[in-house]
Amino acid sequence: MIPPEELTQKARALMCKDDPSIRSIDEDKLDALIELYIQTGIQVHSPGYMGRQFSGIVPLSASIDMVGSVVNQPASFYEAGQLPNVAERIIAKEFYTFLGWEEDTGDMVSTSGGSLANLTAMLAARNKAYPNIWKDGLTSLQGRVPAVAISDDYHYSLSRAAGILGIGENQLIRLPLDEKRRIRPEMIESSLAQAKERGLDVFCLIASAGSTSVGAIDPIAEISEITRKHNIWLHVDGAHGGSLLVSDTLRPQVKDIGMADSFMLDAHKMLFVPSPCTLLFYRKKQDAFEAFNQKASYVFDKEPDIYTEFDSAPKNFECTKRPAIMNLWAVWALYGKSLFAQKIEYLNGLTHAFHDLIASTEDFETIHEPEINIFCFRYHPKTMSHEALSTLQDEIRKRIKLEGRFFISKVDIDHVAALRVVFMNHLITAEHCEALLEAIRTTGQTIIKEMFSDEC
Ligand SMILES: *Cc1c(COP(=O)(O)O)cnc(C)c1O
Repeated sequence: MIPPEELTQKARALMCKDDPSIRSIDEDKLDALIELYIQTGIQVHSPGYMGRQFSGIVPLSASIDMVGSVVNQPASFYEAGQLPNVAERIIAKEFYTFLGWEEDTGDMVSTSGGSLANLTAMLAARNKAYPNIWKDGLTSLQGRVPAVAISDDYHYSLSRAAGILGIGENQLIRLPLDEKRRIRPEMIESSLAQAKERGLDVFCLIASAGSTSVGAIDPIAEISEITRKHNIWLHVDGAHGGSLLVSDTLRPQVKDIGMADSFMLDAHKMLFVPSPCTLLFYRKKQDAFEAFNQKASYVFDKEPDIYTEFDSAPKNFECTKRPAIMNLWAVWALYGKSLFAQKIEYLNGLTHAFHDLIASTEDFETIHEPEINIFCFRYHPKTMSHEALSTLQDEIRKRIKLEGRFFISKVDIDHVAALRVVFMNHLITAEHCEALLEAIRTTGQTIIKEMFSDEC
C-alpha cells in the first residue's frame, strides 16, 4: 500500500500550474491519472481480493453508470429521472414475488448506501412510535426514553443512526447471541423486560440477515412473532445477505425477512453493481412515508398526479440522487436475474468448500460454518499458545496485505483476532483458495520463527 504522503506528491505532480486560461488536456497526464487511480486502492476484480464486501461489478452496469453520469438526471423526481423511477417500481415488484408479498401492499425506495437505509428505517420507526417528534422534536417525548434492541453483532451504521436520531448509543439494548452468533429469540423477552425496568421504551428491534463479521442470519420468523406481540417495529439489516432472495436455491435462508416491518439490502454488495445502490423495503406501503413527514411546496405537489406519484423524493433523504437503480435494472433486464443468482450460488459454494478445506487441516481452526460467503478462521498450529493467537492473526493479515498477492480482512471474535474472507468475485477458484491457505501457512510459520521461537 502506498503511503498517503507519497500518493499526494504523485497526485500533485499531475496537476497543472495555476493559470487564468483553461489548459488543453494533456493526454499523457490523463493516462497517468487514470492509471494511478486504477493501480492504487483495493483491486476488486483481482481473484486475490478476498477481504471485503465491495464487489467486483458486472461490466454492463458500469456502462449504464457512465450513461447516468452523462445524462445526469437526478432520480428523486419523476419529472427529472423518469426511467429510474419506473425501474425502481419494476425492481420492487420482482422482489415482492420472492417475498410472497401482494403486489401493492408494500413499498421500496432506493437509497445511496446501506448506512442511509438503516438511518431512514430507524427514523420511520421512531416517527411512527412518537408521532409528534417530527414537528416538536425531542421535547415531545415528555420523559419517555426511546430505546432500540439490537443484535450484539450490529454494524456501526446502526449505532451511528441511534446517535443521530437522539436515541443515543447507550439506549441500544444488545441482544445475546448463540454459538453461531445469531440472536437468541428465547432471550429477547427477558431483555425487553429488563429494559422496561430501567425505564426504557423499546420501539424498534434490529436483526441481521448476514452480519458483517461472520454473515450470521438471525431467526427472523421467531423474532417477528415477539416484535408483533409487543408492537415493536422490526427492521432487518440485510445489507449483505438480503440479496440471497434472488436465488431459488438460497432464498429459503432469508425468505422470512419479508415478515419484518422494514429491511434493506445493498445491491452494490451481492448484486454486483457500482456503489452505492441500496434497496429499502417496507412491508406496509404507508410506512414508507413515515421517515420524512414533510411538505415542501416548491417540490412536493399537494395533489399527486400520475407523474408525481412516481416521485421517490417523499420517501428518501436525498434531493439530488444518483440514478443507481438503473445499473441494477439494466443488468436484470438484459441478462435476467439468473446472472445474480448464479454468481451468489457459486460464491456460497466456494465459501463452503474453503471452510471444508480449512477444517481438514491440522494447523488451522474454523470459527463457524459459513451461512453465506463470509467465513472466519484462524491459523493455529498446536504448539501455539492461546495468548499469542491474536498477535499471530494480526501479523499474518498485515504481511499478506503488504505482499499484495492476496487481500483478506480481520475481525475480533470473542476478543480474539480471526482472519476473514469474503468471496465477492466469481473469478476466484478453488486453486486460489488453496494458494491462499498455503500463503497464510508459510507466512504464519515465518512469523512464529521470528516472533515466538521461545514458545515452540
Ligand atoms: C455494508 C453493511 C452496512 C453499511 O452499508 P453501506 O452501503 O456500506 O453504507 C450495514 N450493515 C451491514 C450488515 C453491512 O454489511
